[in-house]
Amino acid sequence: MDAVSIIRAKRDGHRLSDEQIRWFLNSYTKGDVADEQASALLMAVFFRGLDTDELATWTAAMIASGERLDLGLDRPTVDKHSTGGVGDKVSLVLCPLVAACGAAVPQLSGRGLGHTGGTLDKMESIRGWRAALTNEEVRAQLRTVGAVICAAGSGLAPADRKLYALRDVTGTVESIPLIASSIMSKKIAEGTESLVLDVKVGSGAFMKEEGDARRLAETMVSLGTVHGVRTTAVLSDMSTPLGRACGNALEVSEAVATLGGGGPRDLVEVTLVLAREMLALAQPADAGDPAAALADGRAHSAWDAMVSAQGGDVTAAVPEAHRRHVLTADHGGYVTALDAYAVGVAAWRLGAGRSRKEDPVSATAGVVCLSPVGEAVTEGEPVLELHVDDPSRLTAALGALNGAITIGPEPPPPRRLILDVIRA
Ligand code: URA
Repeated sequence: MDAVSIIRAKRDGHRLSDEQIRWFLNSYTKGDVADEQASALLMAVFFRGLDTDELATWTAAMIASGERLDLGLDRPTVDKHSTGGVGDKVSLVLCPLVAACGAAVPQLSGRGLGHTGGTLDKMESIRGWRAALTNEEVRAQLRTVGAVICAAGSGLAPADRKLYALRDVTGTVESIPLIASSIMSKKIAEGTESLVLDVKVGSGAFMKEEGDARRLAETMVSLGTVHGVRTTAVLSDMSTPLGRACGNALEVSEAVATLGGGGPRDLVEVTLVLAREMLALAQPADAGDPAAALADGRAHSAWDAMVSAQGGDVTAAVPEAHRRHVLTADHGGYVTALDAYAVGVAAWRLGAGRSRKEDPVSATAGVVCLSPVGEAVTEGEPVLELHVDDPSRLTAALGALNGAITIGPEPPPPRRLILDVIRA
């Protein structure tokens, strides 16, 4: 076997054998294949794709590059993964909610890169909260609390860690087989028995078009099924931010309000749809309706237990930015569009996100949508509120918001939040 002939084969549109895929990914993980050769193969895959069998082998090889956790619990396990969106704090509510309904939720998460936020960055705005847990701590917390949100350890799918860093700098992120194998290798390796994927569609998402999102969703559902993980995908709208708050601590506050039985309607709806799909796959005894667990405080109690178990102080207020800047409606009417991508980039430029993996993030920076899509506004009424500690960041953030708000004379049609559900 040699790297060049494998690159040439894919470049010329041939299918790769199982042995070729296994050899290449294994050699690359060990450092025997160079970054430039892996980059060339990634670009060849970007243009030529992988067929169903190649993709199954590619994903299996990524899983085999590291450990596959055995959670060994006496209640069913189910996880959720979002392909990433703006204001997407669903995991913070969903993880304790589904635990309160009797399933165990191992949410091994990542940090944000670019305009979409990362779950760990959000959780780290809680005083004392610790993202790094050992495998034994994960198991123990799942046994006692039923819910854990923590950093995925370096032992899970190390091939993906190396390949993802390379894709990021070689223009090969936006490939359905590469995205699907990257996400699913980590989720399968973490040991969950079932999985619900929230595949976002729209300007604030990876997948801008519904057709592409559907193909990604179908690919991931079939990969999960092949690897024995019961998998469902929900396609949901990301043309405008989810909820009102975008930014780390701001999103924690909104999630806590939702756990307390309040919260924005769109966030509650997406959370409940995902919770019902998770419970349908996991089938814990006496799950009941998750809406009841939100309303009666059981989900909130599970949140308190989950955060405290990782050192977080649930009694401390999350930090707030020192400065606010309000954008107002330039005429009266209805907010018909509030572009998710623009709001995500603005929050990122205010400091909520990072450009490079090693950059720090601000806990307090972000954007609050005071008048979301559908709301009637009068001239001069606040639409967006920018939160920032470093005022030198404001100009760039405001630049991102040029043209982001559309106000029309008529209310927009009702938002289709859930576009489809794809089951195995
Ligand atoms: N998230 C991942 O984990 N991998 C991708 O390729 C894209 C998003």
